Amino acid sequence: MERYDFLIIGNSVGAVGCIEALRTLEKEKTVAVVGEEPYHVYSRALLPYYLDREIPLEKMYYRPADFYRRMGVTAILGRRATGLDTRRKVVYLDDGRALGYDKLLLATGGRPIVPPVAGLDLAKENVCTFLTLQDAQRLARFLGSARRAVVLGGGIIGLMTAEALCKKGLSVSVVELAPRVLAPVVDEVTSRMVEEAFSRAGVTVYTGTTIGEVRGEGRAEEAVLTSGVTLPCDLLVVAVGVVPRVELAKEAGLAVNRGILVNERMETSAPDVYACGDCAEVYDFLLDGRRVLPLWPNAYAGGRVAAFNMAGVPRVYDRATAMNSMHFFDLNIITAGLNAGEKEGFEVASRLDPAACRYRRLVLKDGRLYGFILVNEIARAGILLNLMKEGVEVAPFVDKLLKDGFGYACLPEDLRGKLLVRERMG
Ligand SMILES: Cc1cc2nc3c(=O)[nH]c(=O)nc-3n(C[C@H](O)[C@H](O)[C@H](O)COP(=O)(O)OP(=O)(O)OC[C@H]3O[C@@H](n4cnc5c(N)ncnc54)[C@H](O)[C@@H]3O)c2cc1C
Repeated sequence: MERYDFLIIGNSVGAVGCIEALRTLEKEKTVAVVGEEPYHVYSRALLPYYLDREIPLEKMYYRPADFYRRMGVTAILGRRATGLDTRRKVVYLDDGRALGYDKLLLATGGRPIVPPVAGLDLAKENVCTFLTLQDAQRLARFLGSARRAVVLGGGIIGLMTAEALCKKGLSVSVVELAPRVLAPVVDEVTSRMVEEAFSRAGVTVYTGTTIGEVRGEGRAEEAVLTSGVTLPCDLLVVAVGVVPRVELAKEAGLAVNRGILVNERMETSAPDVYACGDCAEVYDFLLDGRRVLPLWPNAYAGGRVAAFNMAGVPRVYDRATAMNSMHFFDLNIITAGLNAGEKEGFEVASRLDPAACRYRRLVLKDGRLYGFILVNEIARAGILLNLMKEGVEVAPFVDKLLKDGFGYACLPEDLRGKLLVRERMG
């Protein structure tokens, strides 16, 4: 049986974070990565740009083509791990192979949710999800022939897809069940700004409704909304979210909630098994609880921290929280922390400049920053993030944080020095 000192399941950013840290610590030990997708590691966040052909395939790769060779990593691609025996320390693959490990990292990401709607079937030729390079290639085949697209889901991925399709000249409708787009991520003001940006670009956004039925044999021809509206379509994209891929972990008896449960060292409940990225539930320091944070930097950082612990060097990942950088038409948005549906004890300070399409919103609790949203005024996001991570009491100078031209110079001098030193140290 093949045996590796370090084995990683899932060939994406979590795996890369782990490999790059491992190789700073362990030059000689054997490392293998198993990936179900047949491709070299690529950036999912670039998929919408690949779809609208702003980016060619070669630029999608997250690391150079010789990355695994240089890192001395055995890449087993196009193969799925189908079983895990944590007692024998063996992973089974779909080609019958068994791989032994000393330390294992699960970085299996998520899978798209397909809601149970009559006639909504991914087997229909023009019904797609948008999570993988294969999805993007499938969608791209419709460009040029399809005229009308319906995107189910007004979250980040749905809106990115809608924008890419709109830029390719399709007439696009977005259908969102919640009363507003991006509801789990931003506040109402930002949602409205985003909806208006889509509307200005000619995309119709239907909120507070969903698809009740998809009509058409073999292909989707019409999406009938629960509100009664019928949308003819040549293309239907399902983008209502992802669920963590936990099946391997669950069948092996690991503790799983929504995602695979890990502690701050990224250890699962099984000895020598770690997890990171979209498949795991990590500690969010602002929530003071665990949750799935399906974000690129979170997967990388989690993989890195796992690597240190896998190599026997204790490290914790204790500064994780939600963080999004979004770009829709002429809107640039950065959000971090807790921004949607804050509960009791939270206060909000904000400044909206509708003429300039600019917005700045800060969420505070006990005088400290718990979240922020910046719309079209994003240059100083790093400072706010540092204030949040350091737990700085910002109440005395919160008005300065809302002003135009805010920067380190606006902070009290002792704090400025401290934060700048931290920033330089990375
Ligand atoms: C269109 C799109 C845009 C996005 N934009 C952003 C963005 O702007 N900013 C941001 O922070 N995040 C963004 N994200 C989210 C980000 O891509 C994810 O958070 C990140 O990719 C998670 O990385 P991961 O390593 O956990 O897993 P994933 O990238 O999900 O990869 C997991 C891999 O594991 C493989 N796998 C799963 N199970 C097995 C198995 N049993 N055997 C073998 N292989 C397996 C899967 O096939 C997959 O290739 C975007 C996602 C999408 C889809």
